[in-house]
Amino acid sequence: MAVSTKQELELIRESVRALCTKFPESYWRETDERNAYPEEFIQALTKEGWLSVLIPEEYGGAGLGMVEACAILEEINRSGGNSGAGHAQMYTMGAVLRHGNEEQKLRYLPKVATGELRLQAFGITEPTAGSDTTSIETTAELKGDRYIVNGQKIWTSRAEYSDLMLLLARTTPKDQVKKKTDGLSLFLLDMKDQQHNITIRPINTMINHATTEVFFENVEIPVENLIGEEGKGFRYVLSGMNAERILIASESVGDGYYFVDKSVQYANERVVFNRPIGQNQGVQFPIAQAYMDIEAARLMRDKAAEMFDTGGNCAAEANMAKYLASEAAWKAANAAMSTFGGYGFATEYNIERKFREARLFIVAPITNNLVVSYVGQHVLGLPRSF
Ligand SMILES: Cc1cc2nc3c(=O)[nH]c(=O)nc-3n(C[C@H](O)[C@H](O)[C@H](O)COP(=O)(O)OP(=O)(O)OC[C@H]3O[C@@H](n4cnc5c(N)ncnc54)[C@H](O)[C@@H]3O)c2cc1C
Repeated sequence: MAVSTKQELELIRESVRALCTKFPESYWRETDERNAYPEEFIQALTKEGWLSVLIPEEYGGAGLGMVEACAILEEINRSGGNSGAGHAQMYTMGAVLRHGNEEQKLRYLPKVATGELRLQAFGITEPTAGSDTTSIETTAELKGDRYIVNGQKIWTSRAEYSDLMLLLARTTPKDQVKKKTDGLSLFLLDMKDQQHNITIRPINTMINHATTEVFFENVEIPVENLIGEEGKGFRYVLSGMNAERILIASESVGDGYYFVDKSVQYANERVVFNRPIGQNQGVQFPIAQAYMDIEAARLMRDKAAEMFDTGGNCAAEANMAKYLASEAAWKAANAAMSTFGGYGFATEYNIERKFREARLFIVAPITNNLVVSYVGQHVLGLPRSF
């Protein structure tokens, strides 16, 4: 993996910022209003190679690390954009890269790198199981040289705009395994090939996130699309979660800076009672406090990303970064709403859109309650609560 110098990292940030100027806030507001997928933005991002930075050069990517990937997503969100439309293309392939065989890597990664294949969907969450992933009920039954999948996923984002889905399903019933984390398997599902057996229903949400529920009826997956060993899928998913959490933390850090940038500008310009509103400590302090929280979260994000790149176990840091960054962004979002007063509610100011978008990361990809529980139990050694 190539390691960027400070100057190279700044060059990456500058290039992403330049790309983002072609997609101003009016673009994001308009796609949000139409609930449309930001296709042009994703295509531009793909064309410039930003979504494939984590893919090694031998498979057609840039072979860069997490530190660089974080800078990319942070800059997109700081510009007023929404990385959520494409972030999964960056990290979902990690399951194939880390746990797939050479044939799978050669078959898929170069096409994911060019964007010829979109690997944007991952189906883990189910309506009944919720956060308790080991209780998922979607099954994959081996029949001859294919697995037959039946069941349902919910909140499967970008399924309509993806060719492939990383799918977690039960291959051995929960009551027949020693550990409840066993018996789950991970597959690379070619959705286009199986479109007649898959029903995708969009879910209307308060943000433009192209999220859906997906129903599987006798969906066929060839055995060669099983990732790693049957029954070990939960472990593979866990190993990919560190990358996801660090990248999501970066989006939150970007959101946080966005709110602070906007708030500072507005608080300096808006004059009420013959003084800029930012002169009032009641306006100034929440912005400054949010800024400090974002800076602290960024440091934890940086630590997690560096540990990830050097092969250290960064599970605690990745979780803490996601928690701290999402909470800091939410604090900054509220400070911005207060700073903008009534105008914060007007769509043309963009604050309300980013406010809605920033809230997601307190809940997804894992709720902050579960992060706190992870830290309590696994980092501090407190008793298991569930
Ligand atoms: C817009 C959006 C996009 C998403 N995209 C994807 C995707 O692409 N793929 C995918 O697989 N999933 C996706 N998700 C799902 C997301 O990961 C889940 O919503 C999240 O993990 C929480 O699961 P749940 O909604 O079922 O909440 P639940 O598990 O029902 O939890 C509800 C509340 O109870 C709390 N809670 C539950 N158990 C405990 C406990 N033991 N201790 C303390 N608190 C607890 C939770 O913290 C939460 O606040 C997405 C969700 C959203 C909203």
